[in-house]
Amino acid sequence: MNNVSPFQPKLLSKINERLVLKMIQERGPSTRSEMSKYIGVTFPTVAKAVSSLLDSQLLEEIDDTSEGPGRPAKRLRLASENSQVIGITLGGDECTVVVGDLNGVVHEESMVRFSTPATYETLLKEFETSAKQLMLQGGKKTLGVGVSVPAVIDYREQVVVLSANMPFLNGKSIGRDIQAHLGQECVIVRDSHALSLSERLHGNAKEISNFAMLDLCAGIGLGLMVEGRFLTGDSGFAGEIGHNLIVPDGEMCVCGKRGCLESVASEWAIEKRMSGILGRPVRINEVLEMAQAGDQQAINELERMCEYLAIGLAHVVNILNPGTFFIYGRVFEACPELLNRLVEKTKALALEPSVSACEFSLASCSLQDGTVASVINYLTDSLVPNLDGYLSSLRQNDSQNGVSEEALVSN
Ligand SMILES: [Zn+2]
Repeated sequence: MNNVSPFQPKLLSKINERLVLKMIQERGPSTRSEMSKYIGVTFPTVAKAVSSLLDSQLLEEIDDTSEGPGRPAKRLRLASENSQVIGITLGGDECTVVVGDLNGVVHEESMVRFSTPATYETLLKEFETSAKQLMLQGGKKTLGVGVSVPAVIDYREQVVVLSANMPFLNGKSIGRDIQAHLGQECVIVRDSHALSLSERLHGNAKEISNFAMLDLCAGIGLGLMVEGRFLTGDSGFAGEIGHNLIVPDGEMCVCGKRGCLESVASEWAIEKRMSGILGRPVRINEVLEMAQAGDQQAINELERMCEYLAIGLAHVVNILNPGTFFIYGRVFEACPELLNRLVEKTKALALEPSVSACEFSLASCSLQDGTVASVINYLTDSLVPNLDGYLSSLRQNDSQNGVSEEALVSN
């Protein structure tokens, strides 16, 4: 009986393409022979996958002159000369548009910055102008656009649900709207998720399967990588720690409930408190400058923020047992001693065995890195969803027995 689905060969081809891409992401430029041995499939199977990836301009072929005399072997690397991606970040004060390559390298010199406009229509127009300018420069093919948004996003519906300081985004399908303006595939991600993907793909979490990423900005977000899998939850709301109850019957939050972590420990909460104390509107940058200059009121407010944040971090440590807790936020860059304060408080609150096994470290990637990593992750994932478990088993075989001989996927 023939029970083979007519779609199976196509799926197997996509799986092989995904494995080739992931191998090069992890091990760098490789020859077809190396891929065949490492992935455990035949040479013709690898050659077919490579050919398809060259056609779609995700890979480039280079001569390897390091192997001595004779005909040089051809190595395949992620595209950097002929292809590019565009990364867009939205912030309460400022937006940026950059070019990146498939290796996750952000071309800082390409960065266009502009103050965040007051209306959605102007925002789309600004993005269109800046991104089209970057797409035309250099003669490279643009493969996709990643957009990082500081907001709660419904990934299933591709809609912004709640933005703390840009309410005009609420209910908007900003990814689809930018796609319509640019004629490019566009993926939207929450900023904390973008940071996590970047740390995993190109930062200090390449070898860490379980980590958390605190993103302290206007609001508070949390990125989660568990067993090598990036958690979004059913609709994209995983990690919304900012709206966990911390102070019963506390201050009103932007989400409509009271006493959320955001209402006491976010940038907007600090701005609100300090504005009340000083009797005039105060932005976070001024609060940080005051703290750096030794102003005791500003220091007290930031330390109070850390005490509340530590409660949230201790919950995450106890529930998820992360190996590393990355911390992102200009507050910690401006006042590094606050990180020590936060870690000290978290250690005092979390379960000892979990917290003693957890390292705390500033995030190594920027939001711009995150937007580029997000679109790369999207391009890779659009072939076939997660194959990290399979590649982990290859790494174990590799270290224990040399390269895997087993052909698991071959057509
Ligand atoms: Zn809330």
